[in-house]
Amino acid sequence: MAKPSWEPEKVTAMRSRLLSWYEFSRRDLPWRRSAAPYAIWVSEIMLQQTRVAVVVERYKSFLARFPTLVSLALAPEQEVLALWSGLGYYRRARMLHKAAQFVADHRQGNLPATAEELRTLPGVGAYTAAAIASIAHGERVAVVDGNVERVLCRLAGWEAAGRNGGRAALRKKIDLLADQLVDPARPGDFNQALMELGATVCLPRNPQCLVCPLASDCATKGEHKTQPRPRMESREAAYALSVRTGRLAGASNREVLLEQRPGSAGVMPGMWELPALHEAVFPQQFLRMTLRHAIMHVNYYVRIRTVFEDDAEELLPAGGERRWVALSEAAGMALTGLARKVLTRAHLLPALPLDAIAPRRQTDVP
Ligand code: SF4
Repeated sequence: MAKPSWEPEKVTAMRSRLLSWYEFSRRDLPWRRSAAPYAIWVSEIMLQQTRVAVVVERYKSFLARFPTLVSLALAPEQEVLALWSGLGYYRRARMLHKAAQFVADHRQGNLPATAEELRTLPGVGAYTAAAIASIAHGERVAVVDGNVERVLCRLAGWEAAGRNGGRAALRKKIDLLADQLVDPARPGDFNQALMELGATVCLPRNPQCLVCPLASDCATKGEHKTQPRPRMESREAAYALSVRTGRLAGASNREVLLEQRPGSAGVMPGMWELPALHEAVFPQQFLRMTLRHAIMHVNYYVRIRTVFEDDAEELLPAGGERRWVALSEAAGMALTGLARKVLTRAHLLPALPLDAIAPRRQTDVP
């Protein structure tokens, strides 16, 4: 396998080809129409673990509701989580909110301009800081996400690190190479171009080498071992779907029984979900639907049982923070992705294109 040579002339030519390709081939995404640091920050946090098609919709509604950093800082957390609903990995939303409050309180609402300073904000790691600093402020700093890692490993002929180690050493080499390649004149465009190449051409399986602008410099041209995806675990779960006619005088609203996760829960604290059932096994006539719901590396096979109001006490474990919520109110609440999916499929909430949440990048926020 040919060793890569990274002489300055070659690097210059690679940058130029990549940037020309990007200008013609890049996807028209809403966050690419703005150079505002706040808008770029929001998009980068959303994109960390979620597919682009899903982010496009949520990004627009999030920025419509919170057009400025200060408007985000002033919003109640539950409202921020509601707007995040369906994107998954809710810790990102909480950290974004916290960081916005910090910047509003201590920096007159102005985000720091350098990658080094940006990293001091809650939830902003090396990746996000570099993305904001290079795209919004033109700082010459490389952005390395999972896509960029894959492209650079293939370009250089480095095999992905196995489970037995070598990960830190490989990452160091990747960072050095990324630093060397990033274009000093257009670092933001260059970083986006390399990420775009990984997302659309240098795919994990079946890289499109014939249309790749870097093919002539690539040591592998697709003949490369990519780290295998982690195996998905399978788990089963059962939840109650209990709906009744609203009790308020004259109200025709229907209400659904929801339960709030404890504030101390390790996952999705404070969010609203359907109540879990005592018994996962129940008579077939009560089965409302089955569905699969992926969270990180776990596939949940979920059974939803219809529970009549009078049976709820008997079928649901005691002690949860439950309440009947009008469906019109539930739509704007911080629902878990699963709860929103079930209510949407049951035609109780309007459909949103949120079903296909999938990991996209391995970056700063778990
Ligand atoms: S030539 Fe193929 S393997 Fe190499 S960087 Fe381009 S798409 Fe990836």
